Amino acid sequence: MITLHEVHKRDCEDVKAAVLAFGARHPFDGARPDAEPDWKWAEKHFTRLIEVIMGTAALAQTRSTDTVHLAEDEAVQLLLTLNTVPRYRCPICVKQQRDAL
Ligand SMILES: [Zn+2]
Repeated sequence: MITLHEVHKRDCEDVKAAVLAFGARHPFDGARPDAEPDWKWAEKHFTRLIEVIMGTAALAQTRSTDTVHLAEDEAVQLLLTLNTVPRYRCPICVKQQRDAL
């Protein structure tokens, strides 16, 4: 499965900006606004995002390799879309917080 790091290597400024913005949603120390991104955490949530999308795509009974590629593309599109929303929150972080209640 594709990683955030691989997505960032794509030759597209919008994609790079979206990856950095997603990373910034996962700071090492949430209390500090200038905290460095925790890329391991961000990668984990990006993978989870693809898995969630894949789960819904699998219901449409697409072939499995296609499903992975489709889900990866969808996840990148989602990052791009999220990045147009000011101060958006990572959907996986939001879900985990909700589940913890
Ligand atoms: Zn997250």
